[in-house]
Amino acid sequence: MHQTSHVHSRQTISSGYCKRCKTRHSLGSAKAIAGYHRLMAELDSEEATKDYLFGPARGKMFGVMECMQPDGSLITLRAFSGQYNGLWEVEGWVPPLFNVEDFFRISDKVEKQIKAIGREIEMLAPHSEPWLQLRKKRRQLSQALMRDIHNIYQLKNFHGATATLSQAYNNNNGIPTGTGDCCAPKLLNYAANHQLTPLGIAEFYWGRENRSASRQHGSLYSSCREKCEPILGFMLCGLNY
Ligand SMILES: [Zn+2]
Ligand SMILES: [Zn+2]
Repeated sequence: MHQTSHVHSRQTISSGYCKRCKTRHSLGSAKAIAGYHRLMAELDSEEATKDYLFGPARGKMFGVMECMQPDGSLITLRAFSGQYNGLWEVEGWVPPLFNVEDFFRISDKVEKQIKAIGREIEMLAPHSEPWLQLRKKRRQLSQALMRDIHNIYQLKNFHGATATLSQAYNNNNGIPTGTGDCCAPKLLNYAANHQLTPLGIAEFYWGRENRSASRQHGSLYSSCREKCEPILGFMLCGLNY
């Protein structure tokens, strides 16, 4: 009991540096804590959810965002990170930052090619000339696929601006896989697209702890440094907190 109240009282934050305003923008968890407790209770009550998230797939990050609608009433948005049980879109949860049909149209064909090349590589003598050539071809194909996928992400902010992932991404390192798929960008993008004003955001881990044990069941976490922070400066711009 003592430990639980300690975990719940921790304040977390979503933030990032905005190139346009030359300052950090951020959104804290305080006003989303009630929504976090409600979603935790809901997940707790669903047997299928428990079986999945405490099973071999392990747990995942969830997020809630409390928002004000144009008429002044409140609404709580919910998100899961990445895919849920292999699905990008689930009723009652905010969608990803891209059109899912576009995603499969772009990736299906190339992924088949990449797998076919992988099978060819296995049949060749390692480090032979054709083996090296095919490895290079496979790497180029997956890099090109990554770039194409990044370009279908549409990020909208509270200033009315839109950007692709590479336009919004704030440092010179490569964009890590899964950027834009965490809860914070999904929630902010949905709010910006639906004239909602975010008041607070809470991201928490639910289920069996991850392999490195860096994520614990029920704990709140600030937005991640590698994937989210470099795009959240853009995404939070115009919120004026
Ligand atoms: Zn993240
Ligand atoms: Zn800004």
